[in-house]
Amino acid sequence: MTHTTDGPDHGTIDAVPTRYGDTMFRSRLEADWAATLDGNRIKWHYEPETITLPSGAVYIPDFWLHELGIWIEAKGEGIPRIEKAAELAKARACRCPGDCACPWPGGELVLAGRAPLDITRTETGRWPGRGYANWETPFGPSAYYLHCPACSRNQWITLRRPWLCRACRHGLENQTAHRAIDRRVRFVESTPAGGFGDPVTEEGDEEPDAPDPGEWGDKR
Ligand SMILES: [Zn+2]
Ligand SMILES: [Zn+2]
Repeated sequence: MTHTTDGPDHGTIDAVPTRYGDTMFRSRLEADWAATLDGNRIKWHYEPETITLPSGAVYIPDFWLHELGIWIEAKGEGIPRIEKAAELAKARACRCPGDCACPWPGGELVLAGRAPLDITRTETGRWPGRGYANWETPFGPSAYYLHCPACSRNQWITLRRPWLCRACRHGLENQTAHRAIDRRVRFVESTPAGGFGDPVTEEGDEEPDAPDPGEWGDKR
């Protein structure tokens, strides 16, 4: 996997408390993930719950996406301490014997929100500090981002079938699912200079296809 860590503190141990909106986050990466979720119209709560894991460890995940049943732990590269996220993922995964009856299809999903993927060198109009959202599950890169045409929610799913919208259970079999390395989900900087909505590429640069509705939405 190729990536760069050219952000101010992405991927470093030093966490710089960063304000975004009304919330003071523990790190720039957390604040940027909040901005990224906003930019992709995904609702979130920051550190809403203190969880006692089956091992007895106490864990406060960074983000709870309450419409989707997804936890996100923002961790830069080089910060491999996602054991608690992995334990939470196992504890909250679906164990339904037959058809899944969990409140969210497949149970709750836990993601590690990584530092952004840089814009590739083949793209023109490269702007420093901009890039694409990068995520993985605590067990590897097996979570896919897609758009539900029924309820218009952007979300992550695993490829465990059936593929259902985590919010409305609409079938998503016909939707295009993006891996992080597909570079389709814009990472949004939490700083005023970050912004959202300016084109990444200059004229003449061919877009692969139109972005999903809502994927490039406004900040709330
Ligand atoms: Zn289930
Ligand atoms: Zn839906």
